[in-house]
Amino acid sequence: MPQKTQDTPMMQQYQAIKDQYKDAFLFYRIGDFYELFYDDAIKGSQLLELTLTARNKSATDPIPMCGVPHHAAQNYVDILVDKGYKVAICEQMEDPRKAVGMVKRAVIQLVTPGTVVQEKPGQAKDSNFLTAVYAQDGQFGFAYTDLATGEIFVSKLGAISSVINELLSLRTKEVVIPTDLSAAFKTELNKLDILVSTQADAPATSEVSFVSQGIQTPVELAVLKTLVLYLVSTQKRALAHLQVAVEYEPSQFLRMDHQVKEALELSRSLRTGERHGTLLWLLDRTKTAMGGRLLKQWLDRPLLDRTKIEQRQARVGAFSAHFFERSTLQDALTKVYDLERLAGRVAFGSVNGRDLLQLKGSLAQVPLIKDILQQMQDPTLTDFQNQLDEVPEVYDLIDRAIQADPPISVTEGGIIQDNYNQTLDDYRNAMNNSKQWIAQLESQERQVTGIHNLRIGFNKVFGYYIEVTKGNVKQVPAGRYERKQTLTNAERYITPELKEKERLILEAQEKSTALEYDLFTEIREQIKKQIQRLQHLAAVISEIDVLQGFSVVAEQQHYVKPTFTSHKKGVHIENGRHPVVEKVLGAQQYIANGVTMDQHTDILLITGPNMSGKSTYMRQMALTVIMAQLGSFVPADKCELPIFDQIFTRIGAADDLISGKSTFMVEMIEANNALAHASSQSLILFDELGRGTATYDGMALAQAIIEYIHEHIHAKTLFSTHYHELTGLSDTLVKLANVHVGATEENGKLIFMHKVLPGPADKSYGIHVAQLAGLPHSLLQRADHILGDLEAQGAKTVPQQAEQPTAPEAAAKPATKAPATPDAAPDLVAETQLSLFPEPKAAPVDAKAQQVINALKKLDLMDQTPMDAMNNIYHWQKLL
Ligand code: ADP
Repeated sequence: MPQKTQDTPMMQQYQAIKDQYKDAFLFYRIGDFYELFYDDAIKGSQLLELTLTARNKSATDPIPMCGVPHHAAQNYVDILVDKGYKVAICEQMEDPRKAVGMVKRAVIQLVTPGTVVQEKPGQAKDSNFLTAVYAQDGQFGFAYTDLATGEIFVSKLGAISSVINELLSLRTKEVVIPTDLSAAFKTELNKLDILVSTQADAPATSEVSFVSQGIQTPVELAVLKTLVLYLVSTQKRALAHLQVAVEYEPSQFLRMDHQVKEALELSRSLRTGERHGTLLWLLDRTKTAMGGRLLKQWLDRPLLDRTKIEQRQARVGAFSAHFFERSTLQDALTKVYDLERLAGRVAFGSVNGRDLLQLKGSLAQVPLIKDILQQMQDPTLTDFQNQLDEVPEVYDLIDRAIQADPPISVTEGGIIQDNYNQTLDDYRNAMNNSKQWIAQLESQERQVTGIHNLRIGFNKVFGYYIEVTKGNVKQVPAGRYERKQTLTNAERYITPELKEKERLILEAQEKSTALEYDLFTEIREQIKKQIQRLQHLAAVISEIDVLQGFSVVAEQQHYVKPTFTSHKKGVHIENGRHPVVEKVLGAQQYIANGVTMDQHTDILLITGPNMSGKSTYMRQMALTVIMAQLGSFVPADKCELPIFDQIFTRIGAADDLISGKSTFMVEMIEANNALAHASSQSLILFDELGRGTATYDGMALAQAIIEYIHEHIHAKTLFSTHYHELTGLSDTLVKLANVHVGATEENGKLIFMHKVLPGPADKSYGIHVAQLAGLPHSLLQRADHILGDLEAQGAKTVPQQAEQPTAPEAAAKPATKAPATPDAAPDLVAETQLSLFPEPKAAPVDAKAQQVINALKKLDLMDQTPMDAMNNIYHWQKLL
């Protein structure tokens, strides 16, 4: 019986390896190709757009196959990993020509989405995090790393929701869990769009011990082990660049859920998903990729520690005060390459000669940077100076060893300088001598033979040869030349001496290339020993870079250094601006607005029509707080803030207004999250809370929530609403103040002032706007009438606050408070769910008016652009 295709020794070897990498594409090296078989081939050919063929096509059992050339493999690996798959790279471990029997093969690396170290063009400032989670005694160990830089962070989290929140915040693509983690937890993770990998327990490697230094908590130690074992088992090499894990405690930073970071567009725009138009985009004036990544880290975790914040501020101030030196500093920083990733490549063994020159070039900037800091003569910068380490050993080594323009490849020679290694010099001399001998041979042979156009050439197939044109062949010395090749116009010859020199050259070349590679590896190993110093240097430079960037933004955008007070003293921001909107609109166009919440005010109730700027005002407040706690200056003329511990938001995007009920659920979940976790030191932003449900439901909930915050939480809260009734709460809630964003009329047009003013918005605002827009008088009268009815109903439906505040608090209420509107009514313009025209009680209207009314009833206001609205109104007007 003929042997089945899958039973051939090679396919058996394939299968044995594939069995160990069931969840990965196996790239199986055969000669110059990586081949994929079976399902890998079927799926891979589709994903990679490759032709699907078969191994042993003519057999009864052909095996599906597709392949990629080895030199182009990286591209294909990247595509698969980018799509969330893993790829196992299986190499031939011996020279097939020398192998006895089957060529030995082994997987040399498992590339996974969380362990990709190649940086994509234009994304040097992004990190790729691999995360691990470990559960033990109701606690979760949480660790993450960026393999390209080797940094590792570890924490202990109390709840699965915190784990998920961290995973989303980091935008991690892959999470590693121990094989025996509970099924329930796995199910939770599987709900996220993150690849879940498992790691079996195994003895700790030296890397595990190294990164765990100083960590005491068992669940943190366990998760670090899971993480590092996974790295070691996938990368299959020593990972000397892994850094000692940095322990962090989320409660030591300004806490913001993933959802809050997204809503505030800290690093990703809601509309485009890009960096452009975010706070990160605004603040990032870093000159190095490392600085860019550090800024992103800072933004994820603003500080709580006043001393640390003030230290950053002082340094930003120092850079601003020395702007001349700062520009020299920026020039130097621009010449610093990605030291962190270079160190990673050294450890990974993927560094090449050009990388080393980048490393040297970067180190060359260090004395300069030190010098510039010295010139600034600012005590807050001395610490930086002291910590900047030139790592001269590495600089000198590269300077002595690496040629000025080395090739990308490290195996083909041309990397090591002369005078670095005696043996290498000897080989090179031998080569040069022989080459010289050959060069002289040409003129010598021309003389001897009298063939004036005789020439010596070289090609890869025949090596060195003597070429004589056809016309001169007669003059070729008989016996001494051996004919090797005939061309149309010429004959090519060799001589034993020529071949001997050629052998010497090739031999010396082969030896010198091999030696160069050895020397290069040695140099790499030498540098590896200094990796920690390089990483430390990278950290210091990154920090300098971020802070000088802050000082640039502060200057260009006219920011001010915020000062911190106790919570009692409250918030005082003069002429505050939304940093990103201001940047986009231009400082001239942006209307500055202050925020004042003194010790008597916890809640600002913000009213005003749609598009007036309520949401922008609230975001402005949150971004100012975040910037302040980052150590950056802030967009204001004067700014005094308490240090906030957490920020909570419920800020709806336009489209979740339309989607109705499910949105309401999200609103309530987010509200509950704030109510459950906020402290008196927190900042809460609620934008139009309650508009996802029916009017009275929404209004009642909004009121109850405001009351709850007022009575139980005492967090500083900005609450925007279109429920005009709520403005009356200032009568009973002593710590609530009304503000509104006004609009006005100019030449019959509605102008948004974007100016935040004390007191509630004008209650008849909606109808006033309709009037401005030119709606028929009869219609407006009708609307007024309905408004009256609704007010009467509303008075019955929405209860006033049940409990009155205690007397002392009521007494503390400042007399300057804007008066509440006693006959508060719904704001018709902002209202959507309210049925404007209850049928039974309708006063008689003519048929055309009824038509307009019907159209108005059906209109989904949230779905209208201002232009649509204008058009509609125009048509209605014409109809009447
Ligand atoms: P609302 O929340 O009241 O519906 P937004 O805050 O969304 O309104 O603001 C509507 C638009 O007005 C925004 O697109 C913004 O560009 C502009 N805007 C808001 N505040 C200001 C301001 N202070 N100065 C200039 N333009 C502003």
